[in-house]
Amino acid sequence: MLNDKSNYEIVIIGGGVIGLTVARSLALRGVRDVCLIERGQLGTEASFAAGGMLAPQAEADSPDDFFQLLCQSRDLYPAFTEALKEETGIDVELDRTGTLYLAFTQHDRNEIDSRFEWQTEAGLPVERLTPEEARLFEPCVSTNITGALRFPLDIQVENRRLLTALTNSIDQLGVDVLTNVNIDSLEIKNQRVTGVVTAPGVINCSTVVLAAGAWSGFINPAIRVEPVRGQMVCLTAHPKLTRHVIYSPRGYLVPRQDGRLLAGSTSENAGFAKDVTVGGMNTILRNATEISSAVASMPVFDSWAGLRPRVADGLPVLGPCGEIAGLVYATGHYRNGILLAPITGELIAKTVVDSVVPEVLTPFSPDRFVALESVSK
Ligand SMILES: Cc1cc2nc3c(=O)[nH]c(=O)nc-3n(C[C@H](O)[C@H](O)[C@H](O)COP(=O)(O)OP(=O)(O)OC[C@H]3O[C@@H](n4cnc5c(N)ncnc54)[C@H](O)[C@@H]3O)c2cc1C
Repeated sequence: MLNDKSNYEIVIIGGGVIGLTVARSLALRGVRDVCLIERGQLGTEASFAAGGMLAPQAEADSPDDFFQLLCQSRDLYPAFTEALKEETGIDVELDRTGTLYLAFTQHDRNEIDSRFEWQTEAGLPVERLTPEEARLFEPCVSTNITGALRFPLDIQVENRRLLTALTNSIDQLGVDVLTNVNIDSLEIKNQRVTGVVTAPGVINCSTVVLAAGAWSGFINPAIRVEPVRGQMVCLTAHPKLTRHVIYSPRGYLVPRQDGRLLAGSTSENAGFAKDVTVGGMNTILRNATEISSAVASMPVFDSWAGLRPRVADGLPVLGPCGEIAGLVYATGHYRNGILLAPITGELIAKTVVDSVVPEVLTPFSPDRFVALESVSK
């Protein structure tokens, strides 16, 4: 649907978790003239497909800038979800039980040992468990494990409820939302954004936040964003199998409060196809059964696939475009868009409102690709 208004201060392209969070953060900073434009329905793409794990420590190999950003965003989650509950009445099921990471092979064992060592040295909370200790936390875990780590601060959120809460929040805050409207391109004059082009016409604006996930490259091909398909299988676990999120180096299990158990995932280059395949399900279920053989007798409730937005170096693309004034990127969140949503919202809103790029965004600037291109020429 398209309303009559064709002038806004800010247009946000994409109604996934990133576009929604940026819209909310801008509105909370008092920006009134914002329109979020979504070509389908809000929150139905990668953000809907995700597992909702907020687990930077479980996956990290070093304490680099990216790791710091992930942890900062994770630590915003309790206040972020509390505020959303106050605004909308929706409980997004932030579950703070923690995450277990299991080792089966010697290679897995080496991986968890080095993760334990650097994270302990960095002063991060992480517990090394024997197989027996791990099974005291979660009796369902395979007897084949050789060890485990427990990350008490790595938590999870029900990402679909989060999307509903964000949608309600921006509605209450007065953000205009257009759904079923595809942005075909940007309107650019003298190296400055002047609007966005849609089939019904141009919508004028001086700032565009590009949050179109895996499709961002169609709006501005200067940053190549590729889709990485992730399939997911949803099982029914009554009674619940586990309280913790459980990882192995090959897969994961995420328990939901209502008894759904998510088993993930694949990482595939399959273009924009969102099929669930026999091979994908096989891989996921084999890895889930390795974590706990109890999975084998569970009914399959649902399955789906989503497209993670990835750029060449795997890092998000956050901040203003050096070449086109008024264009601000909030894309490339790859495997961590749910986790990175609160900090992305805050930092992008700050960039737009204060016209100052926070220093923490420097490693994620879109200009890093321009710099790389000029070096390689
Ligand atoms: C199986 C799977 C599991 C995952 N698990 C986790 C996890 O546990 N934790 C985590 O943090 N992350 C996880 N992720 C990653 C996370 O889902 C993504 O990083 C995140 O959802 C990206 O959000 P987004 O808003 O950028 O993209 P999307 O949610 O894809 O939203 C982009 C939106 O832009 C719209 N759009 C595109 N082009 C246009 C256009 N031209 N005009 C208008 N609208 C347009 C699309 O329709 C879409 O709604 C997972 C992903 C997958 C697939």
